[in-house]
Amino acid sequence: NEDLLKKSEQLAMIGQLAAGVAHEIRNPLTTLKGFLQLIKEQVDDDFYLEVIQGEIERIEIITNEFLALAKPRAVHYTSNSLTTLLTNSVEFIKIECLKQGVDVKFSVKEAIIYCDPNEIKQVILNVMKNALEAMPKGGLLEVILEKNDQFAKLIIQDTGDGISPERMKHLGEPFYSTKEKGTGLGLMICQKIIKEHQGAITINSKINQGTRVEISLPLAQNPK
Ligand code: ADP
Ligand code: MG
Repeated sequence: NEDLLKKSEQLAMIGQLAAGVAHEIRNPLTTLKGFLQLIKEQVDDDFYLEVIQGEIERIEIITNEFLALAKPRAVHYTSNSLTTLLTNSVEFIKIECLKQGVDVKFSVKEAIIYCDPNEIKQVILNVMKNALEAMPKGGLLEVILEKNDQFAKLIIQDTGDGISPERMKHLGEPFYSTKEKGTGLGLMICQKIIKEHQGAITINSKINQGTRVEISLPLAQNPK
């Protein structure tokens, strides 16, 4: 038990150090981006510059996602309609769905939860983004919101390529990604946020059939 405690302290320490490093990387990165922009204005279309820009953007995404995970942030919990957060998020990705030939089926009840709205939106968008990325040739994205006495249950389901049992074991591991441009941090961020909201997230998937992500979150206490 003492070993376990020591281990978790060590992990927390490593996390803090890594977050510090990520933070330090951001400043020089901003400088690089600025000067690259200046060079681009002086040079005609250059393949190498495009590659450099792409790679800089990739470092930026990874550092930002990493910081989202490691940095303790000021979260602001308020009563929010999960229904509204969902509707806004779906609006946000609708154009992308249209472009990709993905139909959206939206079936939501009204549910109020006590949450940090930006964090919950981030979870919804991360999960929907994964669903879209799993359906490059089109499909169906189903968004369902149900509730019982205590919990709101959000289901995001796709008809994409699915996850094999072998890959399923690795989900949530940092940097585990099967995508060329993936960071493998999206699900970790979701898990962390949902846990902080006393909720739970489960993933079920069948290869070549699709994936179903279920997120349950406690409903805001009704005043009696
Ligand atoms: P990323 O999207 O950057 O790869 P994530 O943490 O969001 O990182 O997801 C990790 C991995 O889980 C993905 O690379 C993919 O293999 C798998 N995955 C997540 N959601 C889905 C989904 N809806 N359908 C198929 N695979 C998925
Ligand atoms: Mg993702």
